[in-house]
Amino acid sequence: MRMTELPPVISWCVVGVLSCSGCGEDTTMNDRAVHDEAARLAHELVIVDTHLDVPYRLLTRPVDVAESTFSTNFDYPRAIAGGLDCAFFAVYVPHSYETKGGAKEFAEKTIADIGRLVARRPDRFALVHTPDEITPARKRGQVAIAMGIENGAPLEGNLGNVQLFHDRGIRYITLAHVHANHISDASWDTTRLWNGLSPFGELVVAEMNRVGMIIDISHLSDSAAFDVLRISRAPVLATHSSCRHFTPGFERNMSDDLLRALAANDGVIDINFGSMFLVDSLRTVNDRASKGKQHHYADVKHVAEHIDHVARLVGIDHVGIGSDFDGLGDDLPTGLKDVSGYPNLIAELLKMGYSREQIEKVCSGNVFRVWRAVENCARGE
Ligand SMILES: [Zn+2]
Repeated sequence: MRMTELPPVISWCVVGVLSCSGCGEDTTMNDRAVHDEAARLAHELVIVDTHLDVPYRLLTRPVDVAESTFSTNFDYPRAIAGGLDCAFFAVYVPHSYETKGGAKEFAEKTIADIGRLVARRPDRFALVHTPDEITPARKRGQVAIAMGIENGAPLEGNLGNVQLFHDRGIRYITLAHVHANHISDASWDTTRLWNGLSPFGELVVAEMNRVGMIIDISHLSDSAAFDVLRISRAPVLATHSSCRHFTPGFERNMSDDLLRALAANDGVIDINFGSMFLVDSLRTVNDRASKGKQHHYADVKHVAEHIDHVARLVGIDHVGIGSDFDGLGDDLPTGLKDVSGYPNLIAELLKMGYSREQIEKVCSGNVFRVWRAVENCARGE
């Protein structure tokens, strides 16, 4: 099994005992009332998740996500059960295409695959290109699918490809993935080719602003992320990252300094649900030593703690949801194993005292603000 999130040299593992809260059997009446309220909110509010690896998961092990799959993290019945309105499907492009060629072709093929998936079940899915298309889709009983490219390799050194992919329906590009590419350095790659963005990468940022393509800074090295925040005229997203505050030294998550710069850019971090992103002990212990032993998982409450950290540091306007579902393998937290779990996350936020208005910002409002600002920037507004 290949997990799109992880470099070959890092795998998760897991030691440490974690307490579980939320949805156990011993819930009190009060807990039940909170969960009822959370379930209601999950269905009333628009929920946008900015990173699911469904297309690559289907490429490697095809199943029909319009029906219950019992194997993927995402399928239509569980998306409806969890109140998910819009899923950003990642058009993930493996690094090998950067070196051997064919990255653009691979991305176009994946985009066509997504188009076919949606076209086959217009009763269940709708491809969307703007925030305004999401609620009408949901009213028709459809789960909205938006698309982002994970890894800028398919630009293939040609700025014109930013417009080409926008025309194909892509709404964000994660500039790099696990390895540095011709655009940017990557957090997991100790080879720092550029000490940030490449000269071409700087032009890409400007072109994405011009075209109206959201820039995704997840996976970038710190210096590349700071370069983007310095250059971009529009707010950016980190579509699936968590807070380094809880995982010191783990550059794949965002430091407090980066979060402050992101907030100054009016951008948003969408919290990754991977246990290794959430809890330091689940990341740092070498799983070779624990092979064959029981895995331990983070809990949905840890996702809420990351959201709370961003809110306390830079404000509730700068955090959202970027699960990384179907890209993490068996590393998802208790209570958030699949797309039916969003109500459990909302319940944790309610328990922390967050209001409906604040939770709405986390579920979609903040991402919509960035998405619209990027569109406005392209129109010169
Ligand atoms: Zn990723």
